[in-house]
Amino acid sequence: GLGAAIVTAVALRLAAQQKKMQQLLGPLQLSHTDLQRVQALMMQEMERGLDKERNAESSLRMLPTYVCHTPDGTERGEFLALDLGGTNFRVLAVNVSQENIDMSSKIYAIPTAIMQGTGELFDHIMDCIIDFQHEKQMRGQALPLGFTFSFPCQQLGLDKAVLLNWTKGFNASDCEGRDVVQLLRDAAQRKRVGKALKVVAVVNDTVGTMMACGYHDPKCEIGLIVGTGTNTCYMEEMAKVGTVEGDQGRMCINMEWGAFGDNGCIDSYFTNFDRQVDEKTINVGKQRFEKLISGMYLGEIVRHILLALVEEEVLLRGKSSQKLKNRNLLQTKFLSTIEAPGLSLLQVQAILRDLDLDANYEDSVLVREVCQIVSRRAAHLCAAGMAAVVEKMRESRGLEQFTVTVGVDGTLYKMHPYFSQNLHKMLKDLAPRCNVTFMQSEDGSGKGAALVAAVHSRQSNQSS
Ligand code: BGC
Ligand code: MG
Repeated sequence: GLGAAIVTAVALRLAAQQKKMQQLLGPLQLSHTDLQRVQALMMQEMERGLDKERNAESSLRMLPTYVCHTPDGTERGEFLALDLGGTNFRVLAVNVSQENIDMSSKIYAIPTAIMQGTGELFDHIMDCIIDFQHEKQMRGQALPLGFTFSFPCQQLGLDKAVLLNWTKGFNASDCEGRDVVQLLRDAAQRKRVGKALKVVAVVNDTVGTMMACGYHDPKCEIGLIVGTGTNTCYMEEMAKVGTVEGDQGRMCINMEWGAFGDNGCIDSYFTNFDRQVDEKTINVGKQRFEKLISGMYLGEIVRHILLALVEEEVLLRGKSSQKLKNRNLLQTKFLSTIEAPGLSLLQVQAILRDLDLDANYEDSVLVREVCQIVSRRAAHLCAAGMAAVVEKMRESRGLEQFTVTVGVDGTLYKMHPYFSQNLHKMLKDLAPRCNVTFMQSEDGSGKGAALVAAVHSRQSNQSS
């Protein structure tokens, strides 16, 4: 009768919807084999990146940092530190004493006009330093300064770092190809405070984080950031670093893994959504791995998936929403909130309605599922990358088993309810011979830059 016909019609519609969903969301769900493949590719790119002849073929720059020792706890002194390239720009005063590391810091805004402008960036940074010294009554004191600069740099020494290219939201002109320490010194000259500036070290935020955690745990030989951007550094045997002279000891290598895949090697894992997100960035085709993982992009991936689901009439009853077409409507915080354990579907619905999305109960279920798929993929890709790193270290050191600590920082890792769990669990599966502990850094970028400066001054004292 009629009842049976309706039931059949509903069942058919549901089946059709399921099929569309599977078509759209399937490519975002990476199997164990996919992840092992990503791990193997990462390992291969690492080896190439360290090879003197083949370095240019690799999408991993594997940059030498000239940091050859993690802290041993005997570091002392007072330092200034700068932290540029994460969520906030900060100036810090850091005091490393026998008991602890004391810090006071101030956050300064960097307007987009300066971030993507012509030439004012380093003048602005200098103004902030001057303001900070004024406020803390430190004028006239030329403290050694450690600069955490979270972008890819070719280091020619600890205090000489040529910016290779901007990433994330930065695009200030006339900086690429130039030594950022010199850019800072020039700005100091222009402001007539050249003598008050004593830059001793430039470090990547991954290195700062590793150093900050290394101060507490000597097993910390890896730094990981999963925040606005993503990247990893680790201590490599000098004998395996073909791009730097010398075979003794170790050196910290800044992998710049955000650029993994920029040579096309993981193209088969990109979905149409990823391509749509990439097309609208200021660095199209660059930082491909980062664009699958880090906080700056996950909200946009989710938004593009939701748009496609509306298009297929699986979401919002197919009613197209003008609101959903706004770029950056969904920040990464959106994923953390929607996935929060204990958040009811009614609350999810309320959040969606706040965004002017006319969501019903089923829509809420679906949106949460999309967020989970996107954040889980990010965590699993990060695990595949980390599995390659720890396995590479184990092999470089010729060990059967390897125990190591990863110092980690970044808003996505710290704030998302499941990202870290998913990462840890998958890493265990992918690298069973490594015993990996994660240690969250508190203010790693600031502390770390000061510690690099301190380790450096300790060594120069010893050698003189
Ligand atoms: C940069 C890295 C940095 C990472 C995390 C990436 O975009 O290229 O140098 O470590 O972001 O901040
Ligand atoms: Mg940071």
